[in-house]
Amino acid sequence: LEHGELCLHFQPQFAIDDRRLIGAEALLRWQHPELGMVSPNEFIPIAEESGLILPIGEWALRLAVRQMRAWQDAGLSLQSMAVNLSAVQFRQSNLTQVVSRILDEEGMPAQFLELELTESVAMDNPLAAIETMDKLRTRGVRMSIDDFGTGYSSMSYLKRFRVHKLKIDRSFVADLAADPDDEAIVTATISLAHALGLQTVAEGVESEAQLTFLRGKGCDEAQGYLFSKPLPAAQFEAFARASSLLL
Ligand code: C2E
Ligand code: MG
Ligand code: MG
Repeated sequence: LEHGELCLHFQPQFAIDDRRLIGAEALLRWQHPELGMVSPNEFIPIAEESGLILPIGEWALRLAVRQMRAWQDAGLSLQSMAVNLSAVQFRQSNLTQVVSRILDEEGMPAQFLELELTESVAMDNPLAAIETMDKLRTRGVRMSIDDFGTGYSSMSYLKRFRVHKLKIDRSFVADLAADPDDEAIVTATISLAHALGLQTVAEGVESEAQLTFLRGKGCDEAQGYLFSKPLPAAQFEAFARASSLLL
């Protein structure tokens, strides 16, 4: 963070029915001078252990909100900027104040921000999670459950989590159109979400066959290499302009 070696890449998210670009997920990148690009899967767990995830996470949140504001000012019609929250951040007692201050200072309405939590983060201390989710929701921020289906989720808590979307983990999406069990799990997840009034996003969509399956089951949104890898900000902007011309 001090050396300016962290940056954010942005992965486009699409509405499945009309292939319209609707938002972005901000993903951390560490460009190390000797090690090259270090994966967030490697450095985020270490940052969590050391507590450094708090300043890093706050930095990422602010930058993502600032970028979203800049893109809206530049005329891109994006509806949401999704930012991943780590367990340590989510347990921070003043999280709502931190998020609120960043939105105020960057001049962005709360409804454009979506915070992603993994199932295990939410289930770690479900009652505290419900309280935090309620506060964020009251502030107007949307939340989604990331990597849904890979953790230990309790249906009774899912009902009480005030989230907006379930993100279907890419391990289930990967074998769609090949593995009947994964097809059953994805189909059931979409029905469950819709029955609870939640939207669904499929992660890691890489093929037209997967997209066709998801469309057939009524999945709302998709992101994945089929559309685009996560991109640096300038490339995301060019991608967004090009995709709006195609409509
Ligand atoms: P995630 O939030 O589930 O992000 C999705 C991951 O899947 C990203 O990996 C993305 O690059 C990758 N991906 C997207 N589409 C495809 C596809 O079609 N095929 C395949 N094979 N992969 C795809 P990435 O960027 O390496 O991030 C890994 C994880 O690190 C994220 O998983 C998230 O849990 C965590 N992470 C990233 N940025 C942040 C952050 O700012 N804060 C926190 N707390 N965690 C972050
Ligand atoms: Mg995510
Ligand atoms: Mg995920």
